[in-house]
Amino acid sequence: MLAGYSGKAKNIEFIEDEKVKIIFRDSISAFDGVKLNELDNKGVINCKISTRLFQILHEYGLETHFISSSKDDEMICERVEIIPVETVCRNKTAGSFCRRYGVDQGIKFESPIIEYFLKNDDLHDPLVNKEVAVNMEWMNSEEAMLMEVITRAVNHILKEVFDLINLDLIDFKLEFGRNKDGCLLIADEISTDTMRLWVKKTGEIKDKDRYRKDLGKVIHHYEDILNRLNTINDLPNIETQTEANVNINLKSSVLDPAGAVTQRSLTRNQHETIETTRLGKNAKLIFSEFPSFSLLKEIKGISSEILSNPLIEDFEIELKYNL
Ligand code: UDP
Repeated sequence: MLAGYSGKAKNIEFIEDEKVKIIFRDSISAFDGVKLNELDNKGVINCKISTRLFQILHEYGLETHFISSSKDDEMICERVEIIPVETVCRNKTAGSFCRRYGVDQGIKFESPIIEYFLKNDDLHDPLVNKEVAVNMEWMNSEEAMLMEVITRAVNHILKEVFDLINLDLIDFKLEFGRNKDGCLLIADEISTDTMRLWVKKTGEIKDKDRYRKDLGKVIHHYEDILNRLNTINDLPNIETQTEANVNINLKSSVLDPAGAVTQRSLTRNQHETIETTRLGKNAKLIFSEFPSFSLLKEIKGISSEILSNPLIEDFEIELKYNL
C-alpha cells in the first residue's frame, strides 16, 4: 500500500521520483463538506478539464505541477508541499465576495481583484492579507509576489480561452506548492469545481454553483464545458504583460557623494527635516514571457550580474502583471 491521503474530491498517492498520482473521485461537496454527494462520471470529467487547462497553461509557459494524464480520472504531478494560502481572482462579483460585502452579484471589476484565503476548514477558510500570511510564515514575500502575478496571468489566459467558447470567467481559485528544489508551481486542480463560468449574454451558470444552489443537471453542464474546451484547436495569441522593476541602491555602508550633494541642496531650500538622501537607480524590464519562478530566478541573475555591482549595491525586484 502506497502512502497518500484522501481529500474531499481526490485521492493523492505518493509514487516514485518525487511524483504523485492524483485520482479524481465522483464526490462533490460544498459548504466545507456539509453538503456531500456522488455524481456519476464527475471524476473523469473534472480530471479531463483540469488536464486540458494545465496543458493550456504549459503552452503559454506557465509552471505547474502537472506532468501527464495516466488514466481518464488520474493525473501524474510533481510532488509539492502545498502552500496553505490559496489565491482567488475575480473578474465579477459573486459568491463569498457578495456575502462578505453585501453587494450584488455580477458587478464587473475595473481590473481583476486578487484575494488570499487560509486553507483551514475548521476556520471556514478565512480571508487573509499578504502581510498576515508572510508574518505567519505560510509563504515568504517572494512567493506572495509570484502568487499574485501568476494568478493575474492565469486569469488573463483563461479569460481569453473561455471567451473563445462563449463563456465568461467570473472567478477562480488557485493553489500553489513548492517542489523539492523550492520552485513555486501552480498545483491542485483547475476545473469547474474551482471556478465560476457563466454563458455570455444569458448568464447561465455552468459551474459548481449548480450544485451549491441545487440548480440541477450538474454533470450535463460540466460535460458541456469539457466538450467546448475540446473544440479549441488554435489557442489565442496572448501578449504577456510581465514587468520587472529592479531598484538598485548603494549598500548602507557605502558613501554616496551624489546623495550628499542633493542633501545639501535640500537643506539650503529649507527642507530641514530630511536627514539623509541617498540616490539609487531603477531598471524596468518588460518581458515577452509569462511570470514564473524561473523568470524571477533569471531576473535575480541579471540584477546581480549586469544591473548592479554586488560589492557596493543591493537590489530589490518588484514583479508586476499589468492586467
Ligand atoms: N473556491 C474553491 N475552493 C474553495 C473556495 C473557493 O475552488 O475552497 C472557488 C469557487 O468555486 C469560486 C472561487 O473560488 O470559483 C471564489 O469562491 P468564493 O470565495 O466566492 O467562495 P464560495 O462562494 O465558493 O463559498
